[in-house]
Amino acid sequence: MLNISIMKVKKTFSIISLGCFRNTYDSEILIHKLSRKGYVFSHSLTKAQKDDCVPSDSLIINTCGFIDKAKEESLDVIREAIEAKNNKKIKKVIVSGCLVKRYRKELQKEFPGVDEWLSVEELNQAFTGKRKLTPSYFAFLKICEGCLNRCSFCAIPLIKGNLRSKPLDEIIKEAKYLDQKGIRELNIIGQDITSWGKDFSKSNNLTLLIKRLLKETKNMKWIRLIYTHPRHLSDSLIELIANEERLCKYIDLPIQHINDRILKLMNRQITKEEITNLIYKIRKKIPGCAIRTSVIIGFPTETEDEFKELLQFVRENKFDRLGAFTYSREEGTPAYNLSPQVHPSIKKRRFSELMSLQERVVLDLNKRFLNRELDVLVEENQTDVSVGRTQYDAYEVDGCVFIKRQGLKIGSFYKVKITEAYGYDLIAG
Ligand code: SF4
Repeated sequence: MLNISIMKVKKTFSIISLGCFRNTYDSEILIHKLSRKGYVFSHSLTKAQKDDCVPSDSLIINTCGFIDKAKEESLDVIREAIEAKNNKKIKKVIVSGCLVKRYRKELQKEFPGVDEWLSVEELNQAFTGKRKLTPSYFAFLKICEGCLNRCSFCAIPLIKGNLRSKPLDEIIKEAKYLDQKGIRELNIIGQDITSWGKDFSKSNNLTLLIKRLLKETKNMKWIRLIYTHPRHLSDSLIELIANEERLCKYIDLPIQHINDRILKLMNRQITKEEITNLIYKIRKKIPGCAIRTSVIIGFPTETEDEFKELLQFVRENKFDRLGAFTYSREEGTPAYNLSPQVHPSIKKRRFSELMSLQERVVLDLNKRFLNRELDVLVEENQTDVSVGRTQYDAYEVDGCVFIKRQGLKIGSFYKVKITEAYGYDLIAG
């Protein structure tokens, strides 16, 4: 049970959700739980909108503590919220999330102005209530918490602990509820969804879960899998994505690096050859499939040649989407003490080199859509255009399609013809 003693019945609250999709999901659960207890949800805010937190009584900040940048952002928001409280704009400041789990004592000392600290543990369960942070036609479904991998750079196992899979029946119940509520796109999320069920028994696996989910739902047109670890992405799952129309032809495959020495130091449990073969297999079995990856630049000891090897791999393999992060040194992780660390200016330069290469790759790839008709899920109406996404673009992280038509229905699918292709975005007539 959540113990939010500080708040009284019928008090209003706002929430600022920082960090990744998994945090958005946790924030939705928090809203749901508080609403059921009689608290009135006022609105959700992005960091940029935090000054609008009036007139709610309490402001909840769901923090992220994954890497340095995220930590700094969370601390800034806490600081500003306390200032808002001191200026009588809000009455209470409540902080939850990963940062609390990781640095609770230090935070309590540094921010005595915070009224309550909440851990994320209580939030890890299925729910079938109202969701307010994502659009009405879209939902995330978290199928597991924690991680069984131990990548040497990653603080997630320290924050979230070992893998805890949500039971199959709970997931199906939640999926059916969302299906009946009119969700058109469902994103399956977790730290490593390909590990789902491994803590139950060997016979449980993600393919089985997705088959069951497809059988039990019928309205969701797109089901997207987010974060499939290359080590665990099975042939049976690739086969299922290839053959099932409702599964987005989109594979989120974080490789993190490609040089064998670095992969080993990262404890990724996979080699360059295995990653290369996997990408070849995906492209062969699922023609046209978009592959998103993420990589870390400037991992300790990374040499210029090893970085060039990564560049060459990105050039040759043409990832449809790529997210790059400069290495962030995290206390308590095995990579923390590796030496030498790469100088920040070198990381920065390598990062820009990679991103400008990727921009050229994407522009080239997007040209393949020219004059083709694609299904687009409409998400926004602007003055002259409607804006949507294809199945090759994930919610909030990838590109979009600007359709030169006004007033298309938000949350509906339209077939549109692509007329122009730019860096990350497409234009349709
Ligand atoms: S797979 Fe690796 S990087 Fe991803 S959450 Fe688990 S330990 Fe972290």
